[in-house]
Formats: sequence, structure tokens, C-alpha cells
Amino acid sequence: MSNILIIGAGGVGRVVVHKCAQNSDVFKNITLASRTLQKCELYKKEVKERYNVDIKIESVDADSVEELIDLIQKVKPDMVLNIALPYQDLTIMQACLECGVHYLDTANYEHPDTAKFEYKEQWAFDKMYREKKITALLGSGFDPGVTNVFCAYAQKHYFDEIRTIDILDCNDGDHGYPFATNFNPEINLREVSSNGRYWEEGKWIETKPMEIKIVWDYPDIGKRDSYLLYHEEMESLIKHIKGLKRIRFFMTFSQSYLTHMRCLENVGMLDIKEVEHNGCKIVPIQFLKTLLPDPSTLGERTKGKTNIGIVATGIKENKERSIYIYNVSDHQKCYEETLSQAVSYTTGVPAMIGAKLMMEGKWIKSGVYNMEQFNPDPFMEELNRQGLPWFVKEL
Ligand code: NDP
Repeated sequence: MSNILIIGAGGVGRVVVHKCAQNSDVFKNITLASRTLQKCELYKKEVKERYNVDIKIESVDADSVEELIDLIQKVKPDMVLNIALPYQDLTIMQACLECGVHYLDTANYEHPDTAKFEYKEQWAFDKMYREKKITALLGSGFDPGVTNVFCAYAQKHYFDEIRTIDILDCNDGDHGYPFATNFNPEINLREVSSNGRYWEEGKWIETKPMEIKIVWDYPDIGKRDSYLLYHEEMESLIKHIKGLKRIRFFMTFSQSYLTHMRCLENVGMLDIKEVEHNGCKIVPIQFLKTLLPDPSTLGERTKGKTNIGIVATGIKENKERSIYIYNVSDHQKCYEETLSQAVSYTTGVPAMIGAKLMMEGKWIKSGVYNMEQFNPDPFMEELNRQGLPWFVKEL
């Protein structure tokens, strides 16, 4: 397998294209398709200049299964990397199924009219993917993605049984704007302004947005306020990690970010339902996206680091133990390499790695899978090779 079709030329898509071009011994034929051709043209030029790799570009509306099927039949890829938005997961999965090609994404399906993540609709493809003998790899970004692989690695090498997992996500970057989001503003703000949720002793416990806060000391960054959020990888990890009693997800936010977000929410700018405005219908959060800086332009001005990892506690040979596995990325270094800030970088690199392992036949089996269901070792090795080194600390 050597022929890939990448759909979505946003901030993350740019990193995926750069990293695939860097690994052109595996990805021999690369096609990038997106709604707006201009960004595809820009990224095509970048990879030609940087790596002397020629890629093909196409425009597509990934909300249309028919358009996707036409494109897949034209490009004839071995696999499709869905780097568009979570709204397109089901149409792209359907088109891959009908054409018999492998599928990968970085984010859980979300219905445009309901700010709720759930794997139900994507897992429902499992039987059909098995029958067609194709693979769907779900959530191959950082979180979800690398965090799932860290959990699988901890389970394989450090524990007989894991009891608790905390996923800890810190972005300490500063882009100099009063307010901007580091990935798609609509997806980001819908996620962050929703109720929190964690899982304990077999049931989900719901919290108000930002109700639970801890202060965590992130290596290479320092102590930061970290707020409990719901995050999609928890839904699959509770199924696949043996003996798990509790799992939580925390993300850092500055007071300034939270104040802006509350203010926007209070005036209705985060609403996802249409409103009438001067005779037109607009969705407030989509209008807000038009006003905010495009995340793919933040790279050059973002300074600082990210640190994302997991803390797992459990039992090994009848003794309690607790380990922390994490990666630290530097926004400016990511920019130098791929013209993108670290949030796009830490998502795009694992998307390329997931695709690489599929293309090499290491992570291929018929059906729909989350990341922790594959052997974590080759993925962990690739993280070190491809720019996301990780560390293990015994706590
Ligand atoms: P962007 O908004 O920057 O990019 C999305 C791209 O998809 C844009 O180029 C957009 O086109 C294109 N697109 C949107 N709708 C369609 C459509 N109907 N047909 C074709 N193309 C379309 O988002 P990001 O790059 O920041 O995020 C990409 C994905 O990565 C998202 O799903 C996000 O949730 C996920 N993500 C995952 C993370 C993880 O760790 N797992 C972390 C961060 C992000 P246009 O240019 O025309 O708008």
C-alpha cells in the first residue's frame, strides 16, 4: 500500500501533508482534497519547496457521500485520512466502506445540531467493515490518539491491572491575541463549554463546565490550573483497559481564556442553533469562527510549550504503582519544521503515524478500532522517530 487520500486542508491537515511528504518512502502517492482548493494549493507548494515531493490536490464536499465516492474512484487510494471536521466522519466512513478502502480519523463523530461526542454511530460500522475486510482506525490524534496508546503501553509494560487514569493536557502557548483557539474554534468551544463528565465505579458522573479544578505540575512548564472536561477517548478506554475503576480528563485554561469564553457564552455567541439576523439566518458560533483568528495562522506567533500525558495507577506484582507518561512539544520548533503550532503538530504527527502503521500492515485488521486495541509498541517507537518523544516517570 502506498497511495493515500487526505481530506481536510486545515491546521492539522497541513502537518499531516508535511509529515507524509517527509515519509515519502511509505506514502508514495499523496492526494490532498478539501472544500477550499486554495489551502491545498498552498500546502502543495510548501511540500514541493521543502521536500521536493509532488502531491495532487482536489476539491470535495465531504458532506456528500456521492462526491466522496467519485473522488475515491478517481484517486484510487489504499486509505483515506479524514482530517476534516468531526461532522464528516460518517459520510467519509460510508464512502470508504462502499469503495472498500481503509479509513482513519482524529476526532469522534459529532452531530452539527447536538454538542455531544459519542462513538455509537462509528462503532456501528464495525460489522460492515469486517465483512468488507477493511480497517477503520478511530481517533489517531494526540487526545484522543497518543493518550490511548500511552494507556495501552502502560497496561502492557507497567501493570497487571490499572485502577485509575488521569489524562492531563496542558497548552502553555501564547499567541499574543486576546482570544483565539488552537484548533477549529467551533469544535473547540463546543467541547470546552459543555458539561464535564468522568467515569467512576461503572458509571458516568456529570459536572458543570469547569466545576472541578486541580493544580498539576507539568514537567518543563510548571503548576497550572487544570479543569475536568469530558473527552471522547474515555468512552473507549473504559471498555478496553482491564480493571479500571476511574478515568478523568483535565485540560489547562488561563483565566483570560475562561473570562472571554464565559462572556461570549453569556451573550449567546456560542449558540449552535440558527438565529435571524437582518433577514438572514446565521449560527452564532459559526459567525464567531469567522471573526476569530484562523488556527492555521497562529503558528508563527505562538511561543511556549505543550505537555500532554497520562497518569496511571494500579498494581504490578501485588504492589501499588503510579506512572506518568508524557510528551512535551515546543510551539516554535513545530513551526520551524511544519509551519504549524504545536496543537496542530501533536495531532497531525500521530495521524501520519497511524496511517504509516496501517500502510505497513502493522495495524491492519478487519473492523472498526480505537487506538488502544492495537499493539502500542510500534506506535511508541514511531513517536520518538517522528518528532514526539515521550518520557516515563515513576511517581
Ligand atoms: P480546521 O478548521 O483548521 O480544518 C478543517 C479543514 O476541513 C478545513 O480545511 C475545512 O475546509 C475542511 N472541511 C470542513 N468541512 C469540509 C467539508 N464538508 N468538505 C471538505 N472539507 C471540509 O480544523 P483543524 O485542522 O484544527 O482540525 C482538524 C480535525 O482535527 C478536527 O476534526 C479536529 O476535531 C481534530 N483535532 C483532533 C485533535 C486530537 O488530538 N485528536 C486535536 C485537535 C484537532 P475549509 O478550509 O474550506 O474551511
